[in-house]
Amino acid sequence: MADLQQIAKAAQEIIQICEQERTNKADKEKLLKLQGAILTHIESLTECEVCGSIADLVVTMTIEPVTAKLCKDCGISAIETGKIKKGTTRKQAARTVRKNAPTAKKKSPPQQASPKSTVELFAEVEKETSLKKTDIRRLHKLIQEIPSPMNLENTVLYVQHEAGLAKLRIEQDVLKTAVTLLMAA
Ligand SMILES: [Zn+2]
Repeated sequence: MADLQQIAKAAQEIIQICEQERTNKADKEKLLKLQGAILTHIESLTECEVCGSIADLVVTMTIEPVTAKLCKDCGISAIETGKIKKGTTRKQAARTVRKNAPTAKKKSPPQQASPKSTVELFAEVEKETSLKKTDIRRLHKLIQEIPSPMNLENTVLYVQHEAGLAKLRIEQDVLKTAVTLLMAA
């Protein structure tokens, strides 16, 4: 199997282990082993000196006076044109990335800039779900006490379970709506 596919396969195995409900010491060993495999495969990836693509089929080719490592496509076109044009793709790519980075950063602050106040949030949830304010506050607290953030589905399940323990009687649909609103804030 090609290096890129090996890396993808190992990454998928890592995800599978991380998504297990319970993980143990053996899983940790597996994770370490998979990480090692990923590193090895990344190291054996070779960059085409013409187009900069990382390919598994990189060959060293000489067409006087140039010797270069080429991917399959560039190798074929080098044979066709009778010469090798070494590219500057790597530098160009780095510059493009740097140029784009600030734009990406600028986008995120406005989304966090206007957090709804808790009062507004609770009022909205109250309107949408007709839950009592005290119940909304308790749900909100449950969500905030979750030690590590989960996706919506798991948060709903968790809050449902905790609400059950706390003897809060809330219909499942209503609870889901409330949790969705509270989490979106
Ligand atoms: Zn190439």
